Amino acid sequence: MDGLLVTVVKTLLLDPRCNPSALEQAAQLLRAGDLVAFPTETVYGLGARVFCETAVARIFTVKGRPLDNPLIVHIAALEEVRCLAADVPDTFWMLAERFFPGPLTVVLRRHARVPAVVSAGLDTIALRMPRHPYALELIRLTGEPIAAPSANRSGRPSPTTAEHVLQDLQGKIAAVVDGGPCEVGLESTVLHLLTDPPMILRPGVVTAEELSAVLGSPVGYWHSQETGPVPSPGVKYRHYAPQAAVVLVASWEAVRQWMANHTEANPVVLAPRPSQEHIPVVFRPLDVATLYAEFRRADAEGRSHILVLCTPAVQANPALWDRLRKAAASQLEEAP
Ligand code: AMP
Ligand code: MG
Repeated sequence: MDGLLVTVVKTLLLDPRCNPSALEQAAQLLRAGDLVAFPTETVYGLGARVFCETAVARIFTVKGRPLDNPLIVHIAALEEVRCLAADVPDTFWMLAERFFPGPLTVVLRRHARVPAVVSAGLDTIALRMPRHPYALELIRLTGEPIAAPSANRSGRPSPTTAEHVLQDLQGKIAAVVDGGPCEVGLESTVLHLLTDPPMILRPGVVTAEELSAVLGSPVGYWHSQETGPVPSPGVKYRHYAPQAAVVLVASWEAVRQWMANHTEANPVVLAPRPSQEHIPVVFRPLDVATLYAEFRRADAEGRSHILVLCTPAVQANPALWDRLRKAAASQLEEAP
């Protein structure tokens, strides 16, 4: 077609385990202003150089991400904080000493030189130092912090393997660094440090108890029902959802009843352990590290429903329970 420029890219799969220059190639692409997905210990991120405004803007386009949903900036050394954040409180350094590198993101005041698009126009900035060695090395080789949300199409479950990234973004990004499956499998804890008390905007494996032990003071939770300005626009979107309907059930008895009422359905059950009695349904283990992979597998298999057995232990895990409730189309179903 005349005058229409269509850019088709083949997304490179770069695996440092069999290609010693994989990370250098990935860094070169980032330095040139391209987008590269990479593994972290939580989920795969879709990275752009933080000071390259056009590359950061492209993250929103390729993900289909709402423009008011800010990105997390990934650093490899603490001195990088000085050029990203302003008025950094002492409490930040206390948290960094204990939890960096690791699955904790801290929201601070944004430094004026950081492009506003990174934070979707907010005057704050979310910072994290991942502990995955490939992520740290990639940031060092690039020579600049990397803005990176999860490397999925917006609304899809976060990717925990390079294959998941390709399912969503093949042909739309320059490369993905393959580091195998992510260790944690759920997104980082996000802590807003400018509120009083500091507030958890998104639960993760770093808990409120661990944070308040370091801070020496209580930490709150931001709940989506609260009125007033939304401190983290991302939390208002429906996240983490597969195409199959996610149904939360309280017991195997509730699974049995659900099956009796939905004889046409083609479900899979995720549960901490298999049922002791014979219930004719496909069972898969419910585990933080493989939750999103199981969501994607159920979609690939064309399942109509994913029943998740939410034992008291599952409901007591803040990060897992948060993601399950966000993915579910319904309330917890209990057997009468
Ligand atoms: P993702 O990296 O895709 O998991 O999304 C990043 C999450 O961090 C979203 O829920 C954002 O809303 C949140 N976040 C990023 N930057 C900020 C910020 N400046 N203030 C509050 N929340 C933020
Ligand atoms: Mg995300």
